Amino acid sequence: MPRIAVGMISHETNSFSPIATTLSSFADERIGVLEGEALLRDFAGSKTGIGGFLEVGAAQGWEMIGTVAASATPSANVAAAAHDALKGKMLDHLRAAGKLDGVLLHLHGAMLSENANDAEGDICRAVRAVIGPDVPLLVELDLHGNITAEFCKAVDGVFVYITNPHIDPYERGLEAAECMARILSGELPRPKVYISKPPMLPATINMRTAEGPMKALIERGDEWEAGPGIVNVSVFGGFPFADFDQAGTSIIVTATDPALGQRCADEMGRYAWSIRDDFLKSIPKVPEAVEQALQLVAMGGDKPVVLADVADNPGGGGSGDTTELLRDLIRRGASGAAACVWDPAAVQQAMKLGIGGEGTFQIGGHAAGDLYGAPIEVQGRVVTLSDGSFTGWGPVVRGRAVHCGPTARIDVGGMKLVVVSIRQAANDQGYFRVVGIQPEREPLLVIKSRGHFRADFEPIAQTIIEVDAPGAANPNLERFEFQHVRRPIWPLDRDMEWDGQ
Ligand SMILES: [Zn+2]
Repeated sequence: MPRIAVGMISHETNSFSPIATTLSSFADERIGVLEGEALLRDFAGSKTGIGGFLEVGAAQGWEMIGTVAASATPSANVAAAAHDALKGKMLDHLRAAGKLDGVLLHLHGAMLSENANDAEGDICRAVRAVIGPDVPLLVELDLHGNITAEFCKAVDGVFVYITNPHIDPYERGLEAAECMARILSGELPRPKVYISKPPMLPATINMRTAEGPMKALIERGDEWEAGPGIVNVSVFGGFPFADFDQAGTSIIVTATDPALGQRCADEMGRYAWSIRDDFLKSIPKVPEAVEQALQLVAMGGDKPVVLADVADNPGGGGSGDTTELLRDLIRRGASGAAACVWDPAAVQQAMKLGIGGEGTFQIGGHAAGDLYGAPIEVQGRVVTLSDGSFTGWGPVVRGRAVHCGPTARIDVGGMKLVVVSIRQAANDQGYFRVVGIQPEREPLLVIKSRGHFRADFEPIAQTIIEVDAPGAANPNLERFEFQHVRRPIWPLDRDMEWDGQ
């Protein structure tokens, strides 16, 4: 019976985030840090990457070995101690497992720790050192990963998400595990991994896969996959806020034919470069965005206008507590609802006041000093108090338990603020419903998220307006002082040339 180890260490690192990333950042998440048998029990039957590995394993009759599973909401560079502890646990389980026939990992690709810029490369090299050169190591990754040549040398296959919003981690888990089964049966020769890195650092704002350049690239990759010798073509848009020299777009090809594998990667890399301008997107600053939204609201319509505070997306490392957009809406007397504003102190104050209580709140603006905007002082009324727990319904978190911690609905003028104690992106209508707001009935919704909210909110929105507001995940990269990204790189060096090599 083949013995297959599985594991996950996942973090999308935003070097500009004011939120520190320690081991407790991983332990605070829904699952905590799971190990061994507990990992296998928790993920069995789940529609997750590891759930996909386990499902194929059960069908194949594999003995599955759980190593470690941990993820944290995007935030700043991971503390060295956290990276070492999680990697150490994974290696301990692999050593204790004895002889293995394969390893399946679900990583992110844009994790950067204080002691390893290419954290996934560091993890996979260490795993390789334990399991030896002969055991296949296949990895599922997020399309926002920043992939390096060193990482590619350590692994035998890469399977990236092909959806953004990401609704296919489970399917890609199945794909990776089915590839493992074909390698173990001898049906597929052991593949190798090839890379092309065009000098591109696009913002993540235009990496949806339903349209635009990511869709075009994924479809071109499908054509290669349909031919012989190519197992998988993985298109990584990259994550620009992980500030290191390998940040940016990459094409990773898993192939059994070496010449074809590199040719495919190179051709795909040149194609990405040729359509790079399609990644550019200009979005309005706060005053224009608010004006546009209020005009649409004034025209009526039976669906809400959504203002997406993409720059403060906690799912991309934003603090979730920036205030400039809310400040302008409140100043202009707007009516609507906003989720999720992260402010545990305001929630505590609301709990002390009780339902119906009124008080002066200093909301948001705490995490980053004045860097992304000061707190807003408001007169607010506490309308609802909640434990902030619900089961997700929309496509991104469907069926999963969501915990916002103690949560308060605080009404300020015509705005209903959903104030949470645990930082997160509002990617599900449940973030409003948990405090009794029916989002589809609001004229205006403010959502701190970049793209994942679309899966659940596009059906109820008349228009979605993305806003260029202050925040650690602002899509306007010129707002940031990069220290480490390689130069020249597009679009920071807009007029640069590339010879395609
Ligand atoms: Zn992603």
